[in-house]
Amino acid sequence: MTYLFKPEDPKALPIAGEDTLFPVHRIFCVGRNYAKHAEEMGSDPDREPPFFFMKPDSALMINPQTVPFPSATQKLHHEVELVVALHKGGENLKKKEALSCVYGYGTGVDLTRRDLQEVAKDKRHPWASAKAFDCSAPVSTLTPLPGQEWDGNSTIRLSVNDERRQKAEISHMTWSIREVISHLSRLFALMPGDLIFTGTPAGVGPLDIGDRVQAEIDGLHPLDFKIG
Ligand code: MN
Repeated sequence: MTYLFKPEDPKALPIAGEDTLFPVHRIFCVGRNYAKHAEEMGSDPDREPPFFFMKPDSALMINPQTVPFPSATQKLHHEVELVVALHKGGENLKKKEALSCVYGYGTGVDLTRRDLQEVAKDKRHPWASAKAFDCSAPVSTLTPLPGQEWDGNSTIRLSVNDERRQKAEISHMTWSIREVISHLSRLFALMPGDLIFTGTPAGVGPLDIGDRVQAEIDGLHPLDFKIG
């Protein structure tokens, strides 16, 4: 049998120092993982457990130079996030087992149609149009660090047109990498190729056409793109 039409090839991320590519399977995202960001979004950071949403592979942009301003929004927001790449899977992983799934880390930006998200929250609608749109997930080259937690003392930062918007230490995450993986593995059978966006610190804000976005995490490959 042949396919009715040619299926898409998997998207794949470059790996620093390697000739091989990391084929991406799914993109999971943590909803709130830094207390100050939960507060700026009007939530109580202490009472709410982590929750997850997803982006399709059509959202992924690999080291983009330009990211298109999406349709149907007047309020495109940036959220810089540490991205975890998994090369193993599993279900119901204990915290002490969780890091064995980790292949490496990258820098990501969870682009959000904030106006559509605000409507969705009000109406208790799903977040697909706010979060899962095309080109909404720029991700950098991966840095391999198999089985290891990312250094909590490193800083995550985002600037727009050289103005600092977001800055925090990774250790300020409410839920650690191993806790996020363990929690997620109770909800989904994790698989090699899965990416996890681990949540954004405070300082999210609007982007316009022509803006230059620089996203950095100490020790990882940065992102540097324009909104076009
Ligand atoms: Mn996010």
